[in-house]
Amino acid sequence: MRKMKAIAAILLLTLGVTSASADLRTELKKTSNVTLRDARLLVRQPYGTENVKAAPDFWLYDGFRITGDIFFYKMIVKGLKRIESGTPEYYSKVKKWVHTIHPNGERGSYAIFTHKTVVIGMASVRATPDGLVAILLHEFQHCIKPNGSEGAACFAVDFYGEKLKLHPIARMWPRIWAKDKYNYTIKDWSKLEPK
Ligand SMILES: [Zn+2]
Repeated sequence: MRKMKAIAAILLLTLGVTSASADLRTELKKTSNVTLRDARLLVRQPYGTENVKAAPDFWLYDGFRITGDIFFYKMIVKGLKRIESGTPEYYSKVKKWVHTIHPNGERGSYAIFTHKTVVIGMASVRATPDGLVAILLHEFQHCIKPNGSEGAACFAVDFYGEKLKLHPIARMWPRIWAKDKYNYTIKDWSKLEPK
């Protein structure tokens, strides 16, 4: 059913239905999960293509599987390189616990530690370079199972952020949250963080 609606959306757009389609567009918005923007992307794909493909299924970088477009890939690699050069011991740990990095449109970022996967919102990718590194540190830490709590993820941003010389603003809130919201301190870190 969803596919049929997608096809209907594609047809409407392909046929260049404009003013007369106002009602149809409204109808489409009401009934379909496919947005007009999705549909525009879909029409660029060859007939019969099931999924939108603006990039290869995934990029491989130093063992990480990165999906998304070339912009996402480049920004993530930039972040990874910075983490590698500033905190090499942490980087090797991340390589062990994180295998896949997905983009998440205009939505937020999160981690699925059971799948060694982080999902990064595009707003974070377009933020300042320091902002993106902060988000990466946070979501990566969630994947380090023995020490992946919310408190630890916030703590990690401040802890590694200092070594990575992140802007103080990028570290400030995570530091406050770790301490005041999650009651997480360096003691918890020393106890739980795997070597
Ligand atoms: Zn979190």
